[in-house]
Amino acid sequence: MNIEKLLDYQKADREYDELIKERNATPDVDNYLKAKRVRDFARQSLVKLSADNQQTHAQLERLTAAQDEISEEVEAILESINNLNNEGEIDEDEINYLAQRLDDLSSEIDKIAKDVAVISERVSALKKECDKNTSNGEKSVLVLKTLNEAVKKILDEYKPKEDELTEKKNAIKAGLTREEQETYEKVKQAKKGGLPAVLVPLFEDSFCGGCRREIPGAQLQKLNDEGYIFCQECSRIVYKKK
Ligand SMILES: [Zn+2]
Repeated sequence: MNIEKLLDYQKADREYDELIKERNATPDVDNYLKAKRVRDFARQSLVKLSADNQQTHAQLERLTAAQDEISEEVEAILESINNLNNEGEIDEDEINYLAQRLDDLSSEIDKIAKDVAVISERVSALKKECDKNTSNGEKSVLVLKTLNEAVKKILDEYKPKEDELTEKKNAIKAGLTREEQETYEKVKQAKKGGLPAVLVPLFEDSFCGGCRREIPGAQLQKLNDEGYIFCQECSRIVYKKK
């Protein structure tokens, strides 16, 4: 890898990133981007909540079906008891059996009632969450609408400089090999949001200039031989200043 060329590219790349950072830090753009994040989060949450809601409704339906089944059985038992009474024959075993069954069914009903109470609570919690996200989403959409014109103006103002720096970056990039381009991008993306520096000089003869981790002897040897190594801690390209 040609470290000199990569350093040139890094300089142009950072210049571009700094410009975008400066643009995005202007109050209107900053608020616009924040509102966009809130809106996106609210939308994602609503999708998830709607799935939860469906699941909860399915649970409630299952419980209602179970409740109906039990009610039917209770009715059938009461009818049997009635018939036994009408027939005037008192079969103790049969009556005991039916009484026991009624007891069991009544505890099942209690259990279902408890489950229904838990799920009802869940339903109202879900509703609250939905309302909150809907309101957040609406508020942020309003902010986006209000800021739209101002943000467009700022983007237009930055556009010429942005184009100029992009062109400069691309011109240097064209002189890099495919491997150099890919390695640079891969290392840059090693951190979420992008590493500010992909290439860092060796620090005090034995430390990574990025994360300050001490570089092992074998790696240092490689650095001497090849002019660069990848830091095993932060994955940056560590080079030796000439
Ligand atoms: Zn490092």
